[in-house]
Amino acid sequence: MSRPVCEACGAHDLKLIGRKNGEFILREFTFHQCGGCGFMWVEPFSGFEIYNDAYYRGKGPDPYVDYEAEYQDWQRSDRALEFDDMARLAQKFFVTARPAPPAAEPPPPIAWLDFGCGAGGFLKYLRARGSLQGRPLELTGHDVGSYADLLKTREGFRILDWDELSRESTARYDVISLIEVIEHLPSPLEPLALAARLLKPGGLLLLTTGNLDSLIARRQGIHYRYCAPEIHVSLFNPACLAALYRRVGLSPCRVRYRGAVKFKVLKTLRLQPRSRRLARLALRLPPVVRLVDWLYGVSAMPCAVKPPR
Ligand SMILES: [Zn+2]
Repeated sequence: MSRPVCEACGAHDLKLIGRKNGEFILREFTFHQCGGCGFMWVEPFSGFEIYNDAYYRGKGPDPYVDYEAEYQDWQRSDRALEFDDMARLAQKFFVTARPAPPAAEPPPPIAWLDFGCGAGGFLKYLRARGSLQGRPLELTGHDVGSYADLLKTREGFRILDWDELSRESTARYDVISLIEVIEHLPSPLEPLALAARLLKPGGLLLLTTGNLDSLIARRQGIHYRYCAPEIHVSLFNPACLAALYRRVGLSPCRVRYRGAVKFKVLKTLRLQPRSRRLARLALRLPPVVRLVDWLYGVSAMPCAVKPPR
């Protein structure tokens, strides 16, 4: 085992908990866990080369991925449900966290970084929205690869690679979103420490990732479908995510997801149109959304705020 301490909480009590064969890369992977906080990780790391054009088309280890559809028309993508949800949560945060500026002054922009912006659907959603709580949105994305290049050159977005992002000034952003990104990173501490540095005091980190302490995940252990060892290499539960936030100087905060829960269901039914139609109908009922949320522990995963100075 290559790590001496837990990335999330710093404990030394680390153990091998199981082995599983990859379905895409046909080899054995090992799963490790911290006895202190429950953070899990996979070895060996398959590298970032796996995120290629085949992956973007859903022909890689994640059959649910469809970058091209999202890039071409985010409004027709199920992710629109998730985008609405994130904007709703940020709006709610700014209503409760910040007093409105005096009416005579122009409202200051909200600087928003979408870390791991992928095919750029969320950036396009935010651009179309234009403002939040009466404040204009100033958008930046972070990613690498062919879609990041297209977003930069064809769509005119400000897209930064890791080195450029690392050179950004401290306290630059009001909101940083990391939507289903952190589970892909073999070392989550470094990007979260950067996010913590780049957030303004009082700023919001909107982070989503799978919950390995949910009812469904606990029943299935490492055989849970989310534990795809080629791509999901850092696996979290609410306690270890909170520990990681505190390690980088952020305070965990609870949110209640709705659209993000619906999206997770519809995404997994991408290749089954009939079940999707039924699910879409069922998800109109709030108790169904709450039940799915409880089973998968979506809202149990905290987001974070940077403490005001
Ligand atoms: Zn730990």
